[in-house]
Amino acid sequence: MDTLIIGSGFAGSVVARVLAEKGEKVKIIEKRNHIGGNCYDRYDEHGVLIHQYGPHIFHTNNKEVYDFLSRFTKWYDYRHEVAGNVYGKIIPIPFNLNTLMIVFGEEKGERLKQELIDTYGENARVPILELQKSSSPGIQEVAQYVYENIFLKYTMKQWNQKPEEVDQSVTARVPVLISYDNRYFQDTYQGMPKDGYTKLFENMLNHENIDVELNKDAKEDLIFDFENHQIFYQGQLFEGKVIFTGAIDDFFDHCLGRLPYRSLRFEYEHYSQDYYQSHGVVNYTVSEDYTRITEFKYLTGQDIAGTTIVKEYPEVYHDETQVPYYAILSPENLKMYQKYVDYVKPFSQFYLLGRLAQYKYYNIDGIVEEALKLVQTL
Ligand code: UDP
Repeated sequence: MDTLIIGSGFAGSVVARVLAEKGEKVKIIEKRNHIGGNCYDRYDEHGVLIHQYGPHIFHTNNKEVYDFLSRFTKWYDYRHEVAGNVYGKIIPIPFNLNTLMIVFGEEKGERLKQELIDTYGENARVPILELQKSSSPGIQEVAQYVYENIFLKYTMKQWNQKPEEVDQSVTARVPVLISYDNRYFQDTYQGMPKDGYTKLFENMLNHENIDVELNKDAKEDLIFDFENHQIFYQGQLFEGKVIFTGAIDDFFDHCLGRLPYRSLRFEYEHYSQDYYQSHGVVNYTVSEDYTRITEFKYLTGQDIAGTTIVKEYPEVYHDETQVPYYAILSPENLKMYQKYVDYVKPFSQFYLLGRLAQYKYYNIDGIVEEALKLVQTL
C-alpha cells in the first residue's frame, strides 16, 4: 500500500482516484458505514432520494473540476433557486432586482434599481455588509431591508452571531445581485449527479487499486511517534503518504484544544402530495427555529409520487456524537487550528485536505480543485 486516506468524502475520494490511476495502491479508511462524506445520499423508506446531511448542490466555474467529476456521473440539469419566507411573503434569494420590485413596488423599485446600477454597475454582486456602507438614503433603505429581513435572524440561527460578527466571507456567499437572475449560484457549470452523489462516489472509487474499509476509526490503527516523526499503521512503520480529511482536533484527542464547529439537526417529513413548497429550498429568514426547508424532488428531478422534505436546525457542536458541519472562522479559532497544523508539520508524509482537516468553508468544487492540486504535488 502506497497511500492511506482517511475519509471518503470528495477530498479523500478524488485523491484516491487520481493516485490509483497513477498506479498507486490506495487504502481509504472511513469511520462511517458509507462513502461520500456529507454528500452521501440515499433512498428513504418512501423511495425518495434524500441527502442525509443536508442539501448539496454542485456548481463551479472550474472546467477542470467539472470535467473530472463528469467522468463519474451524468448531470441532471438543475438550476438552484431559493425563496425566502418573510412573514409569509415568498421572495427570491439572493436579494436581486426581482426581489427589489416585489418588496418596494414597481415605481420606487425602478428608482432604487437605477441608483443601485449607477453605484455598483449592472450584474454586480454586493455583499450586504458592503451595501450597508453606502451613504445614499435609497441604498440605505435597501440595505436595511436586506439586513433585517434576510440576514439578521437567519445568521443568528445559523451562527448565534450577528452578520457583522461572523467572518465577512460567510455572508458574502449570498450577495445582493444587481440583476434579474433568480439563481442561487451564477457559476457556468451547475447541476446534480444524475443518479445521486453516492453513485458518483461508487463510480469514482471503483478502481482495482482502491480499497475502502468502512466502519473503521483511523485513530485505532494509526500511531504518531512524535520523537522520530514516524507514523505506524497497524503496528508497522508506514512510510507512504497519509491524506487526512477528518477533524484534526478530534484525531489528536483535542490535545491543543477543541476547535469550535456549528452542527445541524435534520428533521425529515414525508407527504403524500406531489409537492410541499414552491422551491427546492425555502429559507425562513425572520421566523421559525429552523433555517430552511429543502424539498429533495426539486434538487434531484426524481419522478415519484409523494415528497420528502427536511428542516434544518442549527446546533452548538459539543462532541463527536454530532457532525461538525461548519468551521467557525474567527481569528481565535484559526489560531488554534494553526497550532494543529504546526503540530503535524514535522510529519512530512502527512497531508491535511478538505473542509474539516483544513478548517475551511469549502464548497464541493473548492475541495475537488484543492484535491486535484494536491495530487499534482505528491
Ligand atoms: N444567509 C442569510 N440568509 C439567507 C441565506 C444566507 O443570512 O437567506 C447567510 C447566513 O449567515 C449563512 C450564509 O449567509 O450562513 C451563507 O449562506 P449559504 O446559503 O451559502 O449557506 P450553506 O448553504 O453553506 O449553509
